[in-house]
Amino acid sequence: MTYTIGDWELVIGLEVHAQVTSNAKLFSGAATAFGAAPNSQVSFVDAGMPGMLPVINGECVAQAVRTGLGLNAEIHLWSRFDRKNYFYADLPQGYQISQFAHPIVGKGAVEVKLEDGSTKTIGITRLHLEQDAGKSLHDQHPSKSFIDLNRSGVALMEIVSEPDMRSPEEAGAYLTKLRQIMRYLGTCDGNMDEGSMRADVNVSVRKAGEGFRTRCEVKNVNSIRFVMQAVEAEARRQIEVWESGGTVEQETRLFDTQRGVTRSMRSKEDAHDYRYFPDPDLPPLVLDAAWVESLRAALPELPDARRARYVAMGLSPYDAHVLTLEKDTALFFEEVAQGRDAKMAANWVTGDYFAGLNRLKREVADSPVSARNLGRLLDLIADGTITGTIAKQVFEIMLEADEDPAAIVEARGLKQVRDTGAIEAAAEAVMAAHADKLAEYRAGKEKLFGFFVGQVMKAMAGKGNPAMVNEVLKAKLGG
Ligand code: ADP
Ligand code: MG
Repeated sequence: MTYTIGDWELVIGLEVHAQVTSNAKLFSGAATAFGAAPNSQVSFVDAGMPGMLPVINGECVAQAVRTGLGLNAEIHLWSRFDRKNYFYADLPQGYQISQFAHPIVGKGAVEVKLEDGSTKTIGITRLHLEQDAGKSLHDQHPSKSFIDLNRSGVALMEIVSEPDMRSPEEAGAYLTKLRQIMRYLGTCDGNMDEGSMRADVNVSVRKAGEGFRTRCEVKNVNSIRFVMQAVEAEARRQIEVWESGGTVEQETRLFDTQRGVTRSMRSKEDAHDYRYFPDPDLPPLVLDAAWVESLRAALPELPDARRARYVAMGLSPYDAHVLTLEKDTALFFEEVAQGRDAKMAANWVTGDYFAGLNRLKREVADSPVSARNLGRLLDLIADGTITGTIAKQVFEIMLEADEDPAAIVEARGLKQVRDTGAIEAAAEAVMAAHADKLAEYRAGKEKLFGFFVGQVMKAMAGKGNPAMVNEVLKAKLGG
């Protein structure tokens, strides 16, 4: 379905800055941990000291290649670093080392699923490596600004999309998918509130059938929800400009999250404003094709492939979707399902297990119950040691302490009762206590059978073997 505002269609292209997951910076050995004391992770290179030489961090290069492979993109075996020159107080070098004319990764594609169930392919234009800048702090002192250089030199991947998106929903779905792929790959943690992923949002509007009109770029939007809001707000602003007879000027804007509008920041800069030139301190980056292939061979299974495999295992598309949203969840599910009934494992993980996590406000990564113990609980149900009702009780106990369910069942005497005598005794007691219902049943109200099953199970504290309880009642009630 085409998304329009009046008879205007939206055109959106995103430039995503994703922080590379690595222990050290792109060209120095300084650490990259989030939240460290200001200026405690700064080498002479990051501080732009004269005469310091950048040395490429091979792991950051590998991470960029892995990401490119995960985006089904061309890997360029020859790429080059350029200097992008500009002055800013938190950019001590006076330039950013980036890749302009020759990025490490070229064209690729990402497939996104939309709410109506359809899928759409969003083109990737390129991915290049570059340094992050430091951070200016304006809220620490009434008359001074402070500079924190911890981020200075941290490796970023800039991932540029084609102008293929046509609605806020598509922009959101694309970002969600990009984040998911990078988290699976382990190349970017995707923590948007820590600034690990930010997007520059390019928006234009046009009438159906037209070519592209002038776009504006909304800089540095730091959540998926805000990106979707910024798209909508900027499109509405441009439509108003066009409809009142004006012309949209290409410029860089900011999204005011409080008021939900975009504001002009500066007129659009061009490449020549930055005087890009090849960085003389760095030789071209030349990759070995065999090394790239070894990275490809070692890639983890990505969400789409995993989801398809789960459906082939007999899971519903919805369960397969939910279980593959995060890699941690997928791996947890697979350990539970290993050698067991996959559907039953999926029901438990998406049902009682997710509910337990929610209640305890925990994540799969610090799961209160191990996959091994949840698997053992499933075994106890499968081999008839406990009933499904009792399994739920045992699981609640497991949420408090990750114990072996067999030990819990043993210690609390929760084993299923298969002793016909005990079941018969319970059935007789229930029939005696509900003589009225018994009479109704015998007079033909057959649906009361379920009532008796429930009462016997209750009397046996959920431990009666369900099939045997049914059998005994059938015989005794004379149905
Ligand atoms: P620059 O380097 O000046 O930012 P690019 O050509 O690299 O320009 O484009 C940047 C982003 O803008 C890309 O994500 C691209 O898809 C998007 N874009 C280009 N033209 C349009 C347009 N007319 N409307 C919306 N987005 C656009
Ligand atoms: Mg740009």
